[in-house]
Amino acid sequence: MATIDGLPPLREVIRAHELVAKKQLGQNFLLDLNLTAKIARQAGDLSGCDVLEVGPGPGGLTRGLLAEGARRVLAVEKDARCLPALAEVQAAYPGKLDVINGDALEVDVLSHLTPPIRVVANLPYNVGTELLIRWLTPKSWPPFWESLTLMFQKEVAERIVAKPRTDHYGRLALLAQWRCEAKIVLHLPPEAFTPAPKVHSAVVHLTRLPGPRYPADEAVLSRITAMAFNQRRKMLRSSLKGLGPQIEAQLEAAGIAPTARAEEISLEGFCALAREVARKPEQKPE
Ligand code: SAM
Repeated sequence: MATIDGLPPLREVIRAHELVAKKQLGQNFLLDLNLTAKIARQAGDLSGCDVLEVGPGPGGLTRGLLAEGARRVLAVEKDARCLPALAEVQAAYPGKLDVINGDALEVDVLSHLTPPIRVVANLPYNVGTELLIRWLTPKSWPPFWESLTLMFQKEVAERIVAKPRTDHYGRLALLAQWRCEAKIVLHLPPEAFTPAPKVHSAVVHLTRLPGPRYPADEAVLSRITAMAFNQRRKMLRSSLKGLGPQIEAQLEAAGIAPTARAEEISLEGFCALAREVARKPEQKPE
C-alpha cells in the first residue's frame, strides 16, 4: 500500500523492528498516517518552524510532521528499540530529523532547537501532565515555544480547557488559560491507537499569548489556586483561611464573595485576589 512518504506502512515497521508496545512507557501507537498528518496540521504552518516531538515511537506522528513540511523535527524518545525505525525516517528526509535517545523530563532540548519552535506530541500518558506544567511555567514569559499541540487522555484535555462552574475546572485550566489560548481540536476514540487504551483521547492546541491575560504574581496565584481547589467544595473564606485573618477583606476587595467556592471563580477573579494578597502580606493570628 502506498504511504504519504513512500516509507513502509507503520504496521510493517512495527513488525520488522519487533516493537511490541510497552505499557510502562505509555506506548499506544498511531498507525494511520492520514490521521498523524491531520494532527500535524492542527499545529499550523510548520514550514518555517522547528518542531519538538516527545515520544516519536515508531515514527507515525514524526512522518506526519515531516510530510506536512516541518522545517526540522527534534524527536526525543526514551525507548532505544525505536531508533532503527526512526533512522529510516531520517534517511527519507535528509537533514530534517534529529533524534535524541533519552528521557524528555531530563534532556536539555533548547540547545538543539532554533526559533520559531512548536511542540507537537502524542505524549506518553505517564509524563504528559508533568511536561505540560513545565512548558507552562518557564522562568520567564514568553516561553521557548509558540504553540503546543498535544494528545492527552480526554479527561486531562477537558481539564485544560475547562471553564468555571464545570466539573473539570481547576488549577490546570487556570494555569493553561492565564497565558495561552487553549482549545480541543480533535477527539480520538481508543481504536485509533494500537494497542487501544481504555480511555478516549483528545488533541489540545495551546497558543502562547504575549503575556498574562490579567496581571498577577505567578507564585501567589499558584499558592491561592492550590489552596482553593484542594478543598474545592468549601467556601473560600474557609479554604483560604491559612493565608491569615485578613483573607475575607481581601476576597471582598477582589470582588469575590467570601462564601463563594473555588469552582465559581473566574481566572480574572483569581488574578484580582492574587494581587490583593500580594499587596497585603500574610498576617499571622495573634
Ligand atoms: N508518537 C508515537 C505515535 O503517535 O504513535 C508514539 C506515542 S506513544 C503514546 C508515547 C511514546 O513516548 C512512546 O514511544 C514511548 O516510548 C515514549 N516515551 C515514554 N516516556 C518517555 C519519556 N520520558 N521521554 C521520551 N519518550 C518517552
